[in-house]
Amino acid sequence: MSSNKTFTMIKPGAVRNKHIGHILSKIEEAGFTIAAIKTTQMSLQVAAEFYAVHKDKPFFQELISFMSSGPIIAMVLLKDNAVEDFRKLIGATDPDKAEEGTIRKLFATSKTANAIHGSDSDENAEKESAFFFARQEWLRSSEVVL
Ligand code: UDP
Ligand code: MG
Repeated sequence: MSSNKTFTMIKPGAVRNKHIGHILSKIEEAGFTIAAIKTTQMSLQVAAEFYAVHKDKPFFQELISFMSSGPIIAMVLLKDNAVEDFRKLIGATDPDKAEEGTIRKLFATSKTANAIHGSDSDENAEKESAFFFARQEWLRSSEVVL
């Protein structure tokens, strides 16, 4: 059974380009409830920890340098089938391959600066939510909205 939760970050480029409002509208219009939200900035070390699964990839240094280059908006989102539906809403990793109307197609400026993160599994949604938020920060709001 798929869970009803996913984790996302609006990445530093989209924050710098003032796309926060537009991206939040798209997320809510697509039926997601924002259960927890905050602005924060990752250090290089924290970004390396978050993306540890990619540490041997050729793009790793560029990725963690970009992800720690400015504020991000971290969120826990709720919806039925949240992980899969959110991946559809954001589009392919490479914005050149992302479908029209997806968040990455609209707001990404490169494969690295691709506007937004979305968890790729229920297990990672849980881990990534816990990376940024204390459990009660999203559980309390989940009780209110569900
Ligand atoms: N990335 C990159 N170059 C690549 C592949 C990925 O810079 O060739 C970056 C991109 O920002 C992506 C992140 O690394 O969002 C994590 O990669 P992943 O394959 O997990 O893509 P995602 O799940 O974010 O679509
Ligand atoms: Mg991924």
